[in-house]
Amino acid sequence: MTIDEGYIKYQSHWSPGEAPSAAVACQIEETRRPLFEAGLIGHYEEHNVGFGNISVRCGAPGQFLITGTQTGHIEQTTEQHYSLVTSYDIARNEVTCSGPVQASSEAMTHAAIYELDAAIAAVVHVHSRSLWDRHLNRLPTTNVDIGYGTPEMAQEFQRLYSETVFCTQGIAVMGGHDEGLISFGISLQQATIRILSLLQNQ
Ligand SMILES: [Zn+2]
Repeated sequence: MTIDEGYIKYQSHWSPGEAPSAAVACQIEETRRPLFEAGLIGHYEEHNVGFGNISVRCGAPGQFLITGTQTGHIEQTTEQHYSLVTSYDIARNEVTCSGPVQASSEAMTHAAIYELDAAIAAVVHVHSRSLWDRHLNRLPTTNVDIGYGTPEMAQEFQRLYSETVFCTQGIAVMGGHDEGLISFGISLQQATIRILSLLQNQ
């Protein structure tokens, strides 16, 4: 595979500090467990990078709690593995976060999804060779020329949201991000089920 994963492409402003919300981190951990067990969140041994991340709106409007960078290998997360994205600027490619760890390298991708609709409460991003191969260009799919965490990816999600069933089904294949799929939901549970239901139809 082409490895385009794990490193932060946006300009990151991180304020190291206390874990932002133990209760919300615990909710994410509960939904993360079946994804981790299915291998949809994990770690590429050969490249030594983690993959897969989850976020949920938390804190003030526009803010969200997200798994920290390089936490994919962790079997059971605690509040120490989460970062609060306190602000972002997609056009300027900047993310500001606080917590014990820096936000996931795909925090900008999550921000782009939250921008689509205020009703979106949670975002799940996973990796799967089989799901990606099977659903590429069958589910709504972002342009193959656009990688993760770029301002162009945000525009791609807007295009899919207005032109395809992405807005109602809440799941897309990231064409330019090998093995990447992303879902959203009005709850963590909904976003997670949208991914897990693909496994049942294999
Ligand atoms: Zn990814």
